[in-house]
Amino acid sequence: MNPLERILDVESRVNAGALTVDQAAAELSSGPKYWHTPWWKAQRKERLGVSCATCGTASPPLVLQHTWHPRSWREALQEAGPLNWQGWRERHPLPKVERPTVPPTERPVCPTCGSVRVYYRKKAKDWACSVGMSGAPHERHSDHTFPKPATALRTDTLGIRKRNRVATGKYEALSRARWQAWLNSPEYRENQLNALRLRIEDFKRYLSFVDTKTLCRRCAAREDHRHILRNQRRAAQRTMEIARAEFDALE
Ligand SMILES: [Zn+2]
Ligand SMILES: [Zn+2]
Repeated sequence: MNPLERILDVESRVNAGALTVDQAAAELSSGPKYWHTPWWKAQRKERLGVSCATCGTASPPLVLQHTWHPRSWREALQEAGPLNWQGWRERHPLPKVERPTVPPTERPVCPTCGSVRVYYRKKAKDWACSVGMSGAPHERHSDHTFPKPATALRTDTLGIRKRNRVATGKYEALSRARWQAWLNSPEYRENQLNALRLRIEDFKRYLSFVDTKTLCRRCAAREDHRHILRNQRRAAQRTMEIARAEFDALE
């Protein structure tokens, strides 16, 4: 079977329900790479024109170049319609994680300026106020050491940190559970199947060689460069979308 026949064969078995998405994907990625097959080389030879479509030169070497490329698996999953992960997330928002208010707590403070930045000095066996000792000029004070600190109600920094840790853990657990639910949902299987169908359509088009043109080496290199730039832009866009989605999830 040549690569196109293999695709058609996989497609007919998928449509008949004889192949799962995973089996089909495995079959499509196994076997010889299509560009290594004699069939591929023959197709190219047959379609190669006599002059470069861009600059018109007829001097060899001339190459046959595809002007259209199949979507990546990831793009296919994204485009497989409303049954994708993005849509699932929107229809299954995570419950809000409670962040209870942490009341102020009794903390040791400097008896002169009230700062909480006090510490015990082992050698001198007394306490010191780091603000009074080395804070901003207008905050410093001379009696920055004292035998005992005062106590006062202040923000419970440790309590807040602990509360935030607990909230983050709860959020992550909810988020993991939602992802698992998606993987186990009928929508997920439908999404995979639709994406597989898009990929098969793409490869049928690609292997039909309809979107090809003859180019000289130099024009081909220039086109490749443009294609790479386009892909890089797409990759950057995707990274930004993911970052934005994660940021939204934090709110
Ligand atoms: Zn050219
Ligand atoms: Zn002080």
